Amino acid sequence: MSYYSYSQYLQKIFGGKTYKVVVASGLTCPTRDGSLSKAGCAFCDLRGSSSYFGKKGRGTSVQQQLQARLPQVQARFGATRFLAYFQSYTNTYSDLDGLRQIYESALQEPQIQGLCIGTRPDCLADSVISLLEELAQRTYVSLELGIQSFEDTTLEWLARGHTAQDSIHALERLKKLAPHVHICAHLIFGSPTDSPHTARKASKILNQYPVQGAKLHQLMILKNTELGRRWNESQFHTLSLEEYAEQVIEFIENLHPTIYLERLCATASHSEECLAPAWSCNRWKPHNQLREILKKTHCQQGSALRSISSLTS
Ligand code: SF4
Repeated sequence: MSYYSYSQYLQKIFGGKTYKVVVASGLTCPTRDGSLSKAGCAFCDLRGSSSYFGKKGRGTSVQQQLQARLPQVQARFGATRFLAYFQSYTNTYSDLDGLRQIYESALQEPQIQGLCIGTRPDCLADSVISLLEELAQRTYVSLELGIQSFEDTTLEWLARGHTAQDSIHALERLKKLAPHVHICAHLIFGSPTDSPHTARKASKILNQYPVQGAKLHQLMILKNTELGRRWNESQFHTLSLEEYAEQVIEFIENLHPTIYLERLCATASHSEECLAPAWSCNRWKPHNQLREILKKTHCQQGSALRSISSLTS
């Protein structure tokens, strides 16, 4: 295997397959509620980006959602271990009491072994980080951090409403205040504004922090998004699978071998809503092709890091 996979990581933490069950917290985000913007991030279509499942559950209690979904997942995959996955919107964007109630409600389900909490780096007050640490001392907590890029030109182009420094600041405070919280960094490669070494830069920054994992996405242009609007106005370059593979290889070869990779690329959940790149519409083929390319090029996680001391520091 060219890289430390998510299934290997889950095996190490839980001793076997563990399924993430998407659940809606009912919260919104600052790029949708008007605090920063009302338009959303430029790439985000809550339906097209597969967060829709979470949205469907809004208005139903966390526990009711889990009680409805767990038997289905169990029947379909024969699963016994589950994590409640707060995927859509910004799941730390509330007051402390509200957040505690949401998280505790998921943990009341006996089959739930822990929490995966998706959020933005600019929505992590110290008090929220302390709450996450408190929970992480008694159960598994993974923070899925939407860093997306460590380059401000790209963050601006994506209309994220936060900077690279906000992500670094969040990583610094998580390192200091939440040593038991696992961190999974979400990144997008392929914006026309990316510098040639955006992938290498990202892995080198992540290596400096106690980050457990990373999840990679190619830039996808979905209908009903700001990027879709820009694309219809004037098409711009999106990465071919081969060009994206180059980014993935550069990222993996510069990534510390202890950091798992949850996903190499994303899939458009509603292919008819994906404008580009066309290969994003296929669920398994691009992932398999990427794995083939990694094999052929002898890509090895961490191989570009200079010395053994840099791997152990
Ligand atoms: S990507 Fe996240 S923060 Fe941005 S608009 Fe979508 S849900 Fe909100």
